[in-house]
Amino acid sequence: MKRVIIIGGGVAGLGAAYKVRRAADEGHDIEFVLLEKDGRVGGKVATEIVADEWDPVKAGARFIVDGGPDCFLTEKPAVHRIAKLLGIFDDELPTDDSRKKTLILSRGRLFEMPDGVMMFAPTKFVPFATTGLFSWPGKFRMAMDLLIPKKEVPTGAFNDETLESFVVRRMGRECLDRLAEPLVGGVHASDPAVMSLAATFPRLLEMEQTYGSLMRGFLAARKKVEEMRRKYPPKPGEKPRTFFTSFVNGMAELPEAMADGAGRDNIRTGVTVTAAVRTASGFEVTLDDGSQVEGDALIVATESWAAERIARQLDAEIADNLAAIPTSSSATVSVAFREGEVGVDMDAFGVLCPLVENRALLAATYSSTKWPGRAPQGKVLFRGFVGGPHNQEMLDRTDDALVELVLSELRSIVGVNPDAEPLFARVFRWEGGMPQYTLGHLDRVAQIEERCAQIPGLAFAGGSYRGVGLPNCIESGEKGVAKVLAEWGIALEEDTVEEKRVY
Ligand SMILES: Cc1cc2nc3c(=O)[nH]c(=O)nc-3n(C[C@H](O)[C@H](O)[C@H](O)COP(=O)(O)OP(=O)(O)OC[C@H]3O[C@@H](n4cnc5c(N)ncnc54)[C@H](O)[C@@H]3O)c2cc1C
Repeated sequence: MKRVIIIGGGVAGLGAAYKVRRAADEGHDIEFVLLEKDGRVGGKVATEIVADEWDPVKAGARFIVDGGPDCFLTEKPAVHRIAKLLGIFDDELPTDDSRKKTLILSRGRLFEMPDGVMMFAPTKFVPFATTGLFSWPGKFRMAMDLLIPKKEVPTGAFNDETLESFVVRRMGRECLDRLAEPLVGGVHASDPAVMSLAATFPRLLEMEQTYGSLMRGFLAARKKVEEMRRKYPPKPGEKPRTFFTSFVNGMAELPEAMADGAGRDNIRTGVTVTAAVRTASGFEVTLDDGSQVEGDALIVATESWAAERIARQLDAEIADNLAAIPTSSSATVSVAFREGEVGVDMDAFGVLCPLVENRALLAATYSSTKWPGRAPQGKVLFRGFVGGPHNQEMLDRTDDALVELVLSELRSIVGVNPDAEPLFARVFRWEGGMPQYTLGHLDRVAQIEERCAQIPGLAFAGGSYRGVGLPNCIESGEKGVAKVLAEWGIALEEDTVEEKRVY
């Protein structure tokens, strides 16, 4: 029996565990043991269900508070595939797009994001021309994208630059400050001045090379999407396909189902791995209680800073590369109100606060609008996002202070009635929770992978490497297992079946 040690019970570690389980179900003599520091699985995926004690008449009414991710990108197949395998596909929850509107704070006022903006590029003339979000010089500068020649990239050369240099070069500083930084940088909670485009949004670099202009590229992309929608309209009774998807009972439904599917008997929570070494037959990890766990393979699916500590005795080159991946900390603060008291037009998905506005709040989601069922009828739920690379000191505040801060920002930015009494608030802190894909990131990851290729049985997985999104993380865990199985000469039936799009 071959045993795979998996460190970390986030979606990457669970993706690995569930794949080992599927290999065992196919008849291979293989098992896993998953070791997780926290008392629960899920890692950054955390959901708290809060009973609606303010309305005792409606038994069972509840708030669903997502503390980490509140969704995944619909177009990426991994979550759908896993959800189908685990029988929770029907619980997938699309956004309520009848109320879709994004507000952006600009010079102290809220503006609706103009219709047709894709990432940060306008693709519809009238909404772009008439929006008050940008100044006229700013709009002209953005339109220059249609004329500015593409960057010359010598054949075979690696094309990369920061988000800041790319957007400023093509569409001007105002576009970066007012749109690209909060929208695109915000996804990674990253500083555009150091964020590698090749590692985060390579499609933008490709678009420039293919179309010579981002606006032309996004226009072509929009037409393609519209054509696909016409060609494949939703079947009667089918859920709408929205850009983002969540789960009816909150995002934690996914890792909980993955843990069930993989087998809870092999998952140990509340144990911290302090070191790992290679042995004659594989690997041995030491736990914080001083005990050891042995296995034939090791998949490290923790944050990069935790992986570095574990990897130090395994391979110095890997550990050095892991140490060079910076992270940023952030927190989400969810607050609930009675709808009749809140005094806000709730017909929006949320508000973005660009860094140039100098606010403590980076963004706020109107969770109960965006996701049906997140608050009981007659109540609303907001979720504020604070921290990020420019505001790390926010995390030094107490939970109460963070709640006060977010409340005061919601009052002054969104217009929440100062007399509206919050029903409850929940703070989720993510210290070092967001890896920063800075310039050189892909080289560092390639070096880690090259070293792993030379060390049989070893793999690293998770959001620190090739994508922070949940689908990417799951796939990275699965790839770690695929590497190990290949080394053992095990071919899985499921890997020989080409992945069919399930959505
Ligand atoms: C606030 C926030 C919002 C986000 N929103 C979205 C979103 O909407 N959509 C999206 O797709 N992505 C989102 N992301 C990103 C996404 O949540 C993460 O990239 C993903 O969950 C990471 O999964 P993972 O398994 O790689 O790592 P993690 O979830 O970080 O899991 C790593 C696990 O390793 C454990 N661990 C660490 N050290 C040890 C040790 N020594 N021994 C044992 N266990 C250890 C940790 O306790 C943790 O459980 C968000 C992230 C944050 C922080």
